[in-house]
Amino acid sequence: MTFTATIAGVPRIGPNRELKKALEAYWRDPSTGRQLATTATRLVNDYTDAALAAGLDQVAFSGRSFYDAVLDTSALLGALPERVADIPDHSNDGLPPYVDRLFAAARGTKELPASAMTKWFDTNYHYIVPELSAATQFRLEDGAWLEDLRDQVNRVGGEKIRPVLIGPLTYLSLARTTDGSDALDHLDAVFSAYNRLLPRIADRGVQWLQFDEPTLVTDVDRDLLGRVAEGYRSLASTAHDHGLKLLVQSYFGDGDVTVETLQGTGVDAIGVDLVYGNPELPSWSGDVQLVAGVVDGRNVWRTALDQALATLQQLAERGPIAVSTSCSLLHVPYSLDPETTLGDDLRSWLAFGAEKIAEVALLAKALADESQRNSEQWDAARRSVASRKTSTLTHNAAVRDRQSKIEDADRQRASVSDRRAAQQETLGLPPLPTTTIGSFPQTTEIRQARAKWRKGELSDEQYRRAMKDEVADVIRRQEALGLDVLVHGEPERNDMVQYFSEQLEGYHSTEHAWVQSYGSRCVRPPILYGDVSRPHPMTVEWFRTAQELTDKPVKGMLTGPVTMLAWSFVRDDQPLGVTADQVALALRDEIADLVDAGAKIVQVDEPAIRELLPLRKADQPAYLQWAVGAFRLATSGATSHTQIHTHMCYSEFNELIGTVGDLNADVTSIEAARNGMQVLGALRDSGFELGVGPGVWDIHSPRVPKQSEVDELLASALDSVDPALLWVNPDCGLKTRGWEETTASLEVLVSAAQNARANLA
Ligand code: GLN
Ligand code: ZN
Repeated sequence: MTFTATIAGVPRIGPNRELKKALEAYWRDPSTGRQLATTATRLVNDYTDAALAAGLDQVAFSGRSFYDAVLDTSALLGALPERVADIPDHSNDGLPPYVDRLFAAARGTKELPASAMTKWFDTNYHYIVPELSAATQFRLEDGAWLEDLRDQVNRVGGEKIRPVLIGPLTYLSLARTTDGSDALDHLDAVFSAYNRLLPRIADRGVQWLQFDEPTLVTDVDRDLLGRVAEGYRSLASTAHDHGLKLLVQSYFGDGDVTVETLQGTGVDAIGVDLVYGNPELPSWSGDVQLVAGVVDGRNVWRTALDQALATLQQLAERGPIAVSTSCSLLHVPYSLDPETTLGDDLRSWLAFGAEKIAEVALLAKALADESQRNSEQWDAARRSVASRKTSTLTHNAAVRDRQSKIEDADRQRASVSDRRAAQQETLGLPPLPTTTIGSFPQTTEIRQARAKWRKGELSDEQYRRAMKDEVADVIRRQEALGLDVLVHGEPERNDMVQYFSEQLEGYHSTEHAWVQSYGSRCVRPPILYGDVSRPHPMTVEWFRTAQELTDKPVKGMLTGPVTMLAWSFVRDDQPLGVTADQVALALRDEIADLVDAGAKIVQVDEPAIRELLPLRKADQPAYLQWAVGAFRLATSGATSHTQIHTHMCYSEFNELIGTVGDLNADVTSIEAARNGMQVLGALRDSGFELGVGPGVWDIHSPRVPKQSEVDELLASALDSVDPALLWVNPDCGLKTRGWEETTASLEVLVSAAQNARANLA
C-alpha cells in the first residue's frame, strides 16, 4: 500500500493560536500542564482528521511539538544541552518527561542561558540551534513520542499517518559545537540512533516514515553526499527488515541532488520541491516513488491547476508518483475562512493551508481521472488564475510606466567625498555622534491605545494625539540624555513592515492569518499582491511632530524594500526584483517628502537582507544585484546634503561584507556587541570608507551594560575605524525593552562617547 495525496509537514500553533495561549499559560503557571498537554493533542488530532476528511490519504505526523521541531529532535536524540540535564523529569500531567528541559533550552531560566535561535533556511521561521560537542552521545528519549504515535495509529490507522523526523544531515548541519569540533563527525552516530529507533516506530503499526533533509538543496560537498547515501542505505535496510518504508524529503530548492544522492539506496520514496526547484527533475529515473511537491507550501497563491497537472502527468509517465506540497504547511496560515476583508478578486487568488490541502487532493484525483478537470472547483481555479493575470490590481499602468523609465543614474548618488563635505556642513555633528536605531519602548499604554483604536474605542484623532504625546515624551528623554541624532520612537508602528503595508496600494493586511515564527511567537505577514504605489505620505506627520520639538536632527525612519518583501507573502507572478523596485519607488517618494519636511537624515532599515540570501552560492550574485539595486533606487533620489543611514541586525556578515559597501548608505548601523566588534575588522579589510555604527550594547537582554564594557567596545572599534566615520549606537531598536533599563543603558552609551571623544582630543 502506498499513498497518493499528502502534505510534507503540518503546522502546530493551531488555527486560533491555541498552542500559543496554552504555552504562555503554562510558563506563567506550571499547574496548567494538563491543559497544555490536551491542547497539543487535540490540535494534532483535529488537523489530521480534517486533512484526511479533505481527501488526503496520508498525513505527516510530527507528534506534539511544544516549541520547535529541531529542538524536538534534540530531545528525542537525548541531545539537549548539558546544562539543562539536572532539571528533573516532568510527570503526571500528560506532558513529555523532558518538557521542562526542552523549555529551559529554548527560553533559558533565571540561572541558565537560552540556546541560540536562528532562521530556518531562507524562511522567517526560527529553530533552536542544537548544541553539541565531540563528547555528545545520542541516547534515545523516545518514550513520549512513541506513545503519541501509538495513540494516533489507534485513532486513525497506521496507513494514514507518516511520522516525520529531521534527517541526520540536516540536523547536524544546523548544529553548533561548543568545543570547535565538527558536528558532522556525528553523522554515523545519528544514523545509528535512528537505526535503533526504526524498529520501535514500525512496532507502533505505521507503514511509512519520513526524514526531512532540506540541507540537500544547499551546496553540500560530494564526499558528504556519499556518506549520507550510505547512511540512508543502512536505514532503508533496517526499515525493510521491519516492514517499514522510507521517504526522504527535501524542500526550499531544487530536488535533483536529493534524487541523485538517494535513488538506488533502497529508500522507497523521495520527496522534492517542484515549485522552487526544476519541475522536470531530469535526474529521476522513475525506479523509486516520487512525492511531487507541486503545491507551494510557503506562499499563499492559488495553484495553477492545469500547469501543476501537466507537470504531474509528465512525471507519472516516468514512474510512480504521489501529489504533495512543496514543503510543510507550517509556513502558511491555516485557512482563508476567517478573513472578512479580502476583496472577491484577491480572495479568489489565494490558498492558505486548508485550501492547499484541497488542491493536493483534487490534483491527485485528476491524475487518476481526467474528468475532474470538468469540475466546478477546477473551473473556479482556472478563472482565478486568468483574472490575476489581467487584473488592474496586479497591473497598474502608472506604476509600470514609471518603472520602465528607471535608469542606472537613478541608482547613483554623488561621490562619497562630496556627500561627506555636504553633510558635515548641514549637520555639524561632533565626532563619534550618538544615536539609536529607531524604536523606543512599546509600553503597555501604547499597545492598549492601539487596541482601543482598532476596536473603535478611540477616534483617529484621539489615537493620533496619544501617539504624538509619546513622541514628545521620547524627544524630551533623548534631549535629557544628550543624544546627538534623535528619533521619533516609532510608537505608531505595530510592526515595521505591517505599518507600511497598511498604507501602500498593492498590499493587504490580514486579520487572522497568523504563522508561527518561533515557540509561542506568531507573525501575520501582509500579502503583497499587486503593483505597489504610495497614495499618500506615510511617515511625514510623525517626523514633523518630532522635529518641531527639537533643534537636534531627527532621523526619518523607513523600512527598506528587501525587508518589506522578506516579511510578507509576495506575489509570485513576476521576479522579486521587479516588485522590490516598486517598493523602492514608493520609498524614494517618501524620502523626498521627508526631506521637504526638513529631514536631514533618513534611515532605511534592511534587517532582512541576509535572510533572503539564496541557499546556493551560485544564486547569490543575482539576488544581491536586485537587493542592492532596490535599496539604491529608494535612496539615490536624495542630494548630497541628505544623510542616508541603514541598519542591519545580525552578526554573521562574512558573506555580505561587500554588500554593506555596495548599498552605499552614508552610515550603516550593525549588530556587533555580541561578537565583540569582529565585523569591523572585516569591513576595514574590504575597503569600506563610509560611516559605521557598530552596536555597543546588546539590546536582546535587559541587562544594563557596565561603563567599562562600553568604553572597551568603543576603544576596540576605534582600532579598526577612522574616528571621523564612527557612530555610537545600540545593536538594534528598543521597542522590546523597558524604560528603566533603556535610560540607564543610554546614559552609559552617551558617557562612553564623551570619554572616547576626550581621549581623541
Ligand atoms: N527601526 C527599527 C526599530 O528600531 C529597526 C528594527 C530592526 O532592525 N528589526 O525597531
Ligand atoms: Zn535591528
